[in-house]
Amino acid sequence: MSKAVKKNNTVKLDFNIEYAPAPESKASAKIQPSYDLFINGKFEKPASKKYFDTINPATEEKLSSIAEANATDVNKAVKAARNAYDNTWSKMPAKERAKYIYRIARMIQERAREFAVIETLDGGKPIRESRDIDIPLVANHFFYYAGWTDKLAYAFPNKKIQSLGVAGQIIPWNFPLLMAAWKIAPALATGNTVVLKPAETTSLTALKLAEIIQESDLPPGVVNIITGAGATGAAIVNHPDINKIAFTGSTDVGKIIQRAVAGTNKKVTLELGGKAANIIFDDAPIDQAVEGVINGIFFNQGHVCCAGSRLFVQESVYDIILKKLKDRLSTLIVGNPMDKNTDIGAINSKQQMDNIHKYLRIGEKEGLEMYQNNCVLPKKGFFIRPTLFTNVAQSSRLAQEEIFGPVLTIQTFRTDDEVIEKANNTPFGLSAGVWTDKGSKIFNLTTKLRAGVIWANTYNKFDPTSPFGGYKESGYGREGGLHGLGAYLK
Ligand code: ADP
Repeated sequence: MSKAVKKNNTVKLDFNIEYAPAPESKASAKIQPSYDLFINGKFEKPASKKYFDTINPATEEKLSSIAEANATDVNKAVKAARNAYDNTWSKMPAKERAKYIYRIARMIQERAREFAVIETLDGGKPIRESRDIDIPLVANHFFYYAGWTDKLAYAFPNKKIQSLGVAGQIIPWNFPLLMAAWKIAPALATGNTVVLKPAETTSLTALKLAEIIQESDLPPGVVNIITGAGATGAAIVNHPDINKIAFTGSTDVGKIIQRAVAGTNKKVTLELGGKAANIIFDDAPIDQAVEGVINGIFFNQGHVCCAGSRLFVQESVYDIILKKLKDRLSTLIVGNPMDKNTDIGAINSKQQMDNIHKYLRIGEKEGLEMYQNNCVLPKKGFFIRPTLFTNVAQSSRLAQEEIFGPVLTIQTFRTDDEVIEKANNTPFGLSAGVWTDKGSKIFNLTTKLRAGVIWANTYNKFDPTSPFGGYKESGYGREGGLHGLGAYLK
């Protein structure tokens, strides 16, 4: 089985099995050399005349040039959205609106493979994840909200259904197309129009979505997709003719946005960072729990705001859980995200990789014991070995701060009350996981853990019907399900 090599307080876990490569073909991915801004149903050159590169984080090769929208472009996009709202979309019968949303859902399904390949090339996540999780969920979100479009009166009985107007939507790089779907689908279903900005490192699938929207004959201006970095996002947030801001991203930027909209009439939903506790009791199904922990933090490179990054294990099963986790960690395949065997792909950007390395150094300095998979990392691209830390104090920065990488801290506990207190001792409150055979324990913990989403005997399960969102510094407002519709209505 696995062999361990110890150096200082780092243990490298080796598991030497070679798999034949199983790469996904890039043939389905049609990427243009450059992309303009999608405003009022057309692709337009940016007023800024500026473009930036988007690269493949697994190879560092350039994939395309992306237009950088400035305040003039943002203004144009907001005007187009306002015009479409006033003259077309808010006047259209709901059942007609639904037909467009269904059409977009079907077109995404038809081109699912192309979307999955581009998501992986541009973002670095394993093709297995983008093919089996991200893109099917994207289509499901559009289908789900298309279904509600002409039934809003049933969703909110005895209420007057009134849309908000123009929504400015700003999304991150961890689930690029899925976050676009979470934002656009409920906004359209409720009769709003949209200006959406993807993250600067992962604009491509949103721009491919713009192509589909153009082909779907959605009235011009109902969805505008503009690209750029923080300054473009800030121009959206500060535009006076926007009625609603929906943001998913870091807590730091969330706070900036909250300050910017204070005192305005803009409605806001913020989905920010997390530091989720994943809790294993001694009566849990052990192998299932270990696999759930691995899935909760390592698949997808830990690039998930709800990642189960703090593991709490009841003392009596600590040894067996740690042994099984180390064995499983040593078998994880890190590397080419386009390979169907790959478990952990590329870190999204060099900046993010450097940030994760910073935390690994902090862990070493704090004297934590570190276990790493000892696989050979590709020479080019941004990769990090999956890492476990034990001997972790509650005050450790690794247990307190969001790392957004494949890094897990492990702590122990004896009683329910102790683990509830430790799990809640964080500024965040997005999600948590509980592993136990006892329903009563699950109910006890779900009522006492301060987290928006709690999974029991599973982890990272998503469904369009289920609301998602946080407490405390993890933000406010809910996306998904009926709650997600409510966020776009007066
Ligand atoms: P992450 O750590 O996930 O990259 P960020 O919060 O930095 O999170 O980025 C999330 C999104 O917010 C991206 O689309 C980014 O361009 C945008 N953004 C960054 N700074 C600002 C800002 N000051 N105002 C509005 N949007 C911003």
